[in-house]
Amino acid sequence: MKRIILTGDRPTGNLHLGHYVGSLRNRVLLQEEGNYDEMYVFIADTQALTDNFKNPKKVRDNIIEVALDYLSVGIDPEKVTIFIQSMIPELCELTMYYMNLVTLSRLERNPTVKEELKQKDFSNSIPVGFLNYPISQTADITAFEANVIPVGDDQLPMIEQAREIVRSFNNIYGDTLVEPSPLVSSNKFCSRLPGIDGKAKMSKSLGNCIYLKDDSETVKKKVMSMYTDPNHLRVEDPGNTKDNTVFIYLEALVTDEHFKKYLPSYKNLNELKTHYEKGGLGDVIVKRFLYDVIEDTLRPIREKRKYYENNVDLVYNILKDGSKKARTRAINTLNKVKKAMLINYFEGEKDER
Ligand code: ATP
Ligand code: MG
Repeated sequence: MKRIILTGDRPTGNLHLGHYVGSLRNRVLLQEEGNYDEMYVFIADTQALTDNFKNPKKVRDNIIEVALDYLSVGIDPEKVTIFIQSMIPELCELTMYYMNLVTLSRLERNPTVKEELKQKDFSNSIPVGFLNYPISQTADITAFEANVIPVGDDQLPMIEQAREIVRSFNNIYGDTLVEPSPLVSSNKFCSRLPGIDGKAKMSKSLGNCIYLKDDSETVKKKVMSMYTDPNHLRVEDPGNTKDNTVFIYLEALVTDEHFKKYLPSYKNLNELKTHYEKGGLGDVIVKRFLYDVIEDTLRPIREKRKYYENNVDLVYNILKDGSKKARTRAINTLNKVKKAMLINYFEGEKDER
């Protein structure tokens, strides 16, 4: 079976450290391993509009920001097709057909949707478009026949819902669509990185992020303000490393090399944790170390970003070419879907698209 990889991000803000450890880092690894037939990365503007429809400028401005973030972490347009969701109208068409296969109560039960509804200010008037976004996400995935979806664990219910829709479609109309599987980071600290405020998830919408484009000063301020263990009042007090955001970030990012370079009195994270838990290790030392580790990660990303920021036309061309290529692929799947649904009335005639 072909191995087709697809992931997307919403243009609702710049990409952050949570994206990096939860998904972006994996994508670059997959790209470099080269063990795939096709790989797609897309900017989900249609989806972003479902809860930002009153703020189209925000979505538009962030298209280029997310594209710059992609290129600066090392996503290579020679190997990966990068496209903009709304440039592929076939995705809306597929969404329409899949909507018949899902009940309203199933959408309302989707745990990610439920959690996001709590955060948003829809009160009792939930836009249909928002509730519908898991279906539109299924269209994104299936249009490219993608079977490997690198995501953070907040997206697992979405992939589950996509699998249900695929099975239902294939049952009714015959084997047509490919069932996707999520690819979650094997490091449990990476699959849902908390925010700097200690909240369950670093998220653009919650404003608790360290952004990939943040400069050194901003990163320093954010790290120094981070939530640690509220009971670790004096240096000599024993500390908790488990619910401590600073340690969780280290779990997600640190290597033994970092210790050699920046904190040679410890060999590895276990030694540092043991000392903190025993007492006698102050927050400031750990935070300074985390700052060095984050800087080590972000420095090359910032450098690359500078190059693309000075060549924005090149970035727009990458998006334009990628969208064109992706559309051809989506048309191909839509034709299969229409044939299976017996709505391919004039097949064989020249396609006017
Ligand atoms: P928004 O607040 O607009 O929903 P977001 O920060 O949740 O933005 P998305 O664009 O929704 O970002 O997510 C893109 C991808 O990044 C998804 O696969 C998601 O699971 C992953 N991701 C987002 N936040 C985190 C995080 N804190 N830790 C790990 N993965 C994450
Ligand atoms: Mg999200």
